[in-house]
Amino acid sequence: MTERAAIDRRAFFRGAGAAAASLAAGLAAPAIAQARPRVVVVGGGAGGATAAKYLLRHGADLDVVMIEANRIYVTPFTSNLYLGGLKPHAALEYGYDNLIGRGVRPIFATVSEVDRAARRVWLADGTAVGYDRLVLSPGIDFVWDAVPGYSQAAAETMPHAWRGGAQVALLKRRLDAVPDGGTIVMLAPPNPYRCPPAPYERVCMMALSLQRRGVKNARIVILDAKDHFAMQPLFSDGWDRHYTGMVEWQPPEIHGGIKAVDPKAMTVTTDLETIKAALVNVIPPQVAGELGHAAGLTDASGFCPVDAGTMKSLIDPYVHVIGDAAIGGDFPKSGFAANNEAKNAAMVIRHELLGERLLPVRFTNHCWSTIAPDDAVKNGARYVPKDGTITMLDPYTSQRDEPPELRAKQAREAVGWYRGMTTDMFG
Ligand SMILES: Cc1cc2nc3c(=O)[nH]c(=O)nc-3n(C[C@H](O)[C@H](O)[C@H](O)COP(=O)(O)OP(=O)(O)OC[C@H]3O[C@@H](n4cnc5c(N)ncnc54)[C@H](O)[C@@H]3O)c2cc1C
Repeated sequence: MTERAAIDRRAFFRGAGAAAASLAAGLAAPAIAQARPRVVVVGGGAGGATAAKYLLRHGADLDVVMIEANRIYVTPFTSNLYLGGLKPHAALEYGYDNLIGRGVRPIFATVSEVDRAARRVWLADGTAVGYDRLVLSPGIDFVWDAVPGYSQAAAETMPHAWRGGAQVALLKRRLDAVPDGGTIVMLAPPNPYRCPPAPYERVCMMALSLQRRGVKNARIVILDAKDHFAMQPLFSDGWDRHYTGMVEWQPPEIHGGIKAVDPKAMTVTTDLETIKAALVNVIPPQVAGELGHAAGLTDASGFCPVDAGTMKSLIDPYVHVIGDAAIGGDFPKSGFAANNEAKNAAMVIRHELLGERLLPVRFTNHCWSTIAPDDAVKNGARYVPKDGTITMLDPYTSQRDEPPELRAKQAREAVGWYRGMTTDMFG
């Protein structure tokens, strides 16, 4: 056994208390015949952490095992504010002590395989963990080769910074090194992708950072895969007011398609031109986290189809898929949505395994985007399950001519939302 494997097994059994007696019998089989049914949650991010917590909301009547690759989760949400210098990296970091205190048993390891027939998952070290219900919240993966010249290795030079972690700190270091006259190129992804307004909020925060450093004549070129984007009039107005002349947005009909990126030369070639850049932020097209595909739970969209009322996989009723890996209608891929979906899945699982009451399903999503300090916009809606899919009701969005006081209030709301949401997930 490797040292890492030994650590993971010890960590698991520390959580498991005295029940460490039989690895094979204790972990490998589903636990329905035992005192407490076992729910395995894969992923300890926005969706997974919420699910693990809410599965134990009414007491330790379930055996909840959360398997997460990293001991510290770095929230992708509000990572743009870190780029803009509006919050420190440490304020994005969350551990799992509170969840452990609530009875969640963590295993810090990577799940390499799901054996759906036997209802167990396999860890990279060869340990099997059986389940009665599986909740998958593995986030997103990238279609790496959709951008010619881009790859996992290229991301070390041209960071995506779209899954939190070390990539965000790398992007910040590169941003802080952009010189006078330097060009930043962002490749913005096609739909559907994680957090629709976030690339454009990121542009605001990169521009703010350049401005605050006093970088002269820098510009940010967005090469978009889309013809239009979320809250476009609000962002365009914000760029004109706060970052005059710095931001240039090109839809496909202008750039004509991305022909290649070259991480060595730091160039991006489109049908129109080759741009030499000081920083390239490639946000590639997205699909469900790799485990969704490996488990055979994805469809032609690359995401995992689910029943909107229960978040159950349409392919396997013992598996609930939540968060960005799921696809099931109008609900956007956001931390807010993942948190809603996790609570719903937890309620359905507690109903099925423990006979607890089912309440009507209500989803909401509100998303704040910071254009500049004291200038934030927002959009949102309610969502209901209808004919198996998630349908949007009552959408709203900020207006261009809002007074500054309202924008400042929305900026404060965004801070409060983050505090409340991360407490709900990890507290
Ligand atoms: C720049 C940016 C800004 C954003 N802003 C907002 C915002 O303002 N509001 C909002 O609501 N949302 C926002 N989001 C979106 C939000 O971050 C995601 O929608 C949310 O994190 C999705 O949660 P998840 O649980 O699906 O995935 P994640 O939070 O990514 O969690 C997935 C977890 O699964 C783990 N994992 C994956 N595979 C395995 C495996 N095989 N074994 C073990 N562990 C595994 C990963 O390590 C990870 O911790 C933003 C995103 C970005 C990039």
